[in-house]
Formats: sequence, structure tokens, C-alpha cells
Amino acid sequence: MLEQIQFADDMQEFTKFPTKTGRRSLSRSISQSSTDSYSSAASYTDSSDDEVSPREKQQTNSKGSSNFCVKNIKQAEFGRREIEIAEQDMSALISLRKRAQGEKPLAGAKIVGCTHITAQTAVLIETLCALGAQCRWSACNIYSTQNEVAAALAEAGVAVFAWKGESEDDFWWCIDRCVNVDGWQANMILDDGGDLTHWVYKKYPNVFKKIRGIVEESVTGVHRLYQLSKAGKLCVPAMNVNDSVTKQKFDNLYCCRESILDGLKRTTDVMFGGKQVVVCGYGEVGKGCCAALKALGAIVYVTEIDPICALQACMDGFRVVKLSEVIRQVDVVITCTGNKNVVTREHLDRMKNSCIVCNMGHSNTEIDVTSLRTPELTWERVRSQVDHVIWPDGKRVVLLAEGRLLNLSCSTVPTFVLSITATTQALALIELYNAPEGRYKQDVYLLPKKMDEYVASLHLPSFDAHLTELTDDQAKYLGLNKNGPFKPNYYRY
Ligand code: NAD
Repeated sequence: MLEQIQFADDMQEFTKFPTKTGRRSLSRSISQSSTDSYSSAASYTDSSDDEVSPREKQQTNSKGSSNFCVKNIKQAEFGRREIEIAEQDMSALISLRKRAQGEKPLAGAKIVGCTHITAQTAVLIETLCALGAQCRWSACNIYSTQNEVAAALAEAGVAVFAWKGESEDDFWWCIDRCVNVDGWQANMILDDGGDLTHWVYKKYPNVFKKIRGIVEESVTGVHRLYQLSKAGKLCVPAMNVNDSVTKQKFDNLYCCRESILDGLKRTTDVMFGGKQVVVCGYGEVGKGCCAALKALGAIVYVTEIDPICALQACMDGFRVVKLSEVIRQVDVVITCTGNKNVVTREHLDRMKNSCIVCNMGHSNTEIDVTSLRTPELTWERVRSQVDHVIWPDGKRVVLLAEGRLLNLSCSTVPTFVLSITATTQALALIELYNAPEGRYKQDVYLLPKKMDEYVASLHLPSFDAHLTELTDDQAKYLGLNKNGPFKPNYYRY
């Protein structure tokens, strides 16, 4: 085993997240995340691809294997270049590969995965293979697959079943092709959104007899796991990667700080200096958006329901207001609450001409877009992902990505941040796969603190950052082990 990947033997170090009631039922046919429109900007898929469904095509890679289904295997070389570019900013995963040489902590692991299939996830998948795993992969979103990347993975021998623009039927067919295979049975699940886990529960419950654990990345998927756990139906241990510090405090905050302006610029060419912007929600995502907008000279207002977050916003220099107080004057409205109907038709009616409205939260429920589909309003598609909604008096509201996640729909997201999440996923898989019998029960666990710290430490060399080491005396004074963990589980960062 990797020296540094000897995670907490002491059960007390594992924080067991309290079981919560999930917000959504597992009985829905397809998840929100799988229908959200994602990153056309991030994909360089050739639009001249023929319209024949990949399911109808006979394709083989250069080694004669046809154990995959992608849009066009001929794009593999192009996809390989994309993966190599991503590798430049994912050095933690590359260093995991190097450290594992000869040790193969995932030897014998058969991982079935369902995530976005992008250059960054390809680096993760190939890392898992380098650590000894066999992988079969489908996409967790019908729009987010980079076809050329899927082709490169198929060329490299990964059984990948995904293409951009799958139908709902294709979506479940691809998942099924990953799970339902003669002579191959998964023993680990890596999921983003819970659809794969749902499919296995529904169709192949016997597969769980061999599964050692589930690693889940998304808010939605994690809620479903807690729901299963509460109902006593979770039959294997699961890791909640979404709530690990290295995900929440980095992906949500820094990813959004880096991509909010990109998404707005690419779609609208807006100048931010002096513009009045209201950000709904001052959680991690809202904090990132506000910081970026403030830095460019925008006048930023915040709305909040939680007095603690509202106080943080005040002390960071933002005016905390009710949306109705500023809706007439603002130039941009951004939602990032994870809630529903935050921007209502009444708000939309009162906005000024050319007001830009967009969402950075997970699902497209934050802006009441449905209320805009009424006969008196005219919709004009002015650019990809940009609609002008026109009122009878000529007023236009600029709606981006039809209220879906702006950054994932209209901009790229920083590879380095994705590297942190991907490294966390890899380590969670290694931990669950190698955990001795009894360390994890049939429940949902947060990552051990030491693992979070290890993920962070793998990323420090990119900045040439030099950690200070505790002296023996200092360690004793603080009551800490010199090698960590350095904070108690309740520490909030
Ligand atoms: P969070 O819980 O830290 O923050 C949400 C905030 O919204 C909370 O402070 C809450 O009090 C506030 N809020 C709730 N309802 C509100 C309302 N009606 N009006 C005003 N404020 C309200 O969550 P987060 O980590 O900031 O994530 C927010 C959303 O963004 C989630 O849906 C999450 O899945 C999503 N997300 C998006 C990205 C991205 O790249 N765009 C990345 C991570 C998370």
C-alpha cells in the first residue's frame, strides 16, 4: 500500500454524518443532473458528425476491441491531446500514479463509474486503471460528454459507453451496458448524481453482494444515499465526497469564483465595473461569485435567509437586502441558493430592460423559468444558451442557459479545482476497497480528516508551497500527532 494512504485505523477518526431525509425519491425516471445542459464550451466535438446513433455503429479500436460505445472512435487522437492538457494541471493524480508504481492499491478492483466524461475525469479514470483497477464507465449527464475524450478512453481500452446528446433511453442503456456484463462483475461504484446506484438497486440488487463500497460526489446522490440509509436499505458502505472539506471548500468556492465571470462574459460580453449585481445566497458558491464581481468593480448586493451568512456578507462589505428592494435597479441577478423559486415571475416582471438573469445552483429550479413560458411573452434565442424574453412593452430580460448552471453550461471550469475533487474520489475508492472488514458498516461516511489533508498536501507542490512542521514540543502543547490530523472533525475552516 502507498505509505501515505494508510488512512486512519482508528474508527473514531471517521466522522459518520448524521442521517438526513433525502429530498428526492429514487423512483423518478431520470435525474435533474442528467438532463442539465452542460459545457458545450468545454467540448470541441465536431458538429459535422453524422447523425447515426452510436448504438447502431460497429466500431473497433486499434487493438480490435469493440468493448465500448462512443460517438466516433476516430476522434481518439484529438481526445488524447485534450487529456494530456488536463494532466498538466492534475499533477496530484499523476503523483498518485507514480507513488503507486508496483503497489497497485486497486489491484482486483472492478469499478463501474457514472460521471461527466471530460478530459479531467479521463485523467481520474486512467489513474484508477494505473492503480490496478478495471473500469467500465457511462456519463451522468446526457450533454456533458466530450466525444473525443470518450473516444480516447475507448482507444486506451476503457469500456466507455457515452456520447454527447444521448436520449433518455440511451442514458439508461449506457449505464446498463456498464453493469450488465457476462463474466465481469463490479465490486466498487463511483457515482455522480446517484443514477448508477439507483439502476443497480432497481435492476441488479444481487450485484451488491460483491460491492465493497459506493463513492458519491453530488449533493443529490448523497441525499439519496442518506435516504437509503435511513430506510435501512443501504446494503454497502458509502463515502460522501460532496461534504469533504477538499470538495466543499474548494470546488464550490474557488470553482465559482473563477468561472462566474467567464460564463457571463462569454454569453453577454457584459462589463462589470459599476454594474449593480444581486447575488442570492451567500454560501460557498455565493461567496465565490461575490468576490469575483467585487474585484471587477461591480456593486454587489446579497440576499440571504440565514443570519450567520448574512452577517458574513455584511462584514465582507456587501449590502444585504431583500430581492424585492433592489430588483428594479439591478443589471444582473445570480442565484446560488440550492433552493427553488428564489426569482419569481413577479421579480422578473419588475426587472429593468436588459437585466441579465442566471443561476449557479445545482438545479434549474431557482429561477421560475416555467412562469415565463406564457403567450404574452416572446422568446428570442440570440446566441447559444442566451434567450431574450420580451414583454409586451418591449422590455427584454436576458436569460442565460434557461436557468441551468451557468458555469457548467456556458464556460469551462478550472482543471486544478477538478483535480482536487478527482483526487478525493480516487482516495475514497482506495480507502473503501482496502478497508478491513468491519471498519465501515452499511452507512454513509465522510472522508477521514487525514485523507482530506493528504489530498490538500498532494496539491501544494504545484504552488511550491512549504509547510511548517510542528516541533515535538509544539505537537505536545496542542495535543496533536505531528503527521496530522491537524484539526478536529468539527473544525469549519
Ligand atoms: P450553501 O448551502 O453553502 O449556500 C446556499 C445559501 O443559500 C445558504 O447560505 C442559504 O442560507 C441560502 N439560501 C437558501 N434559500 C435562500 C433564499 N430563498 N434566498 C436567499 N438565500 C437563500 O451551498 P453552496 O455550496 O453555496 O451551493 C449552492 C448551490 O450551488 C447548490 O445547489 C450546489 O449544488 C451548487 N453548486 C454549484 C457549483 C457550480 O459549479 N456552479 C459548484 C458547487 C455547488
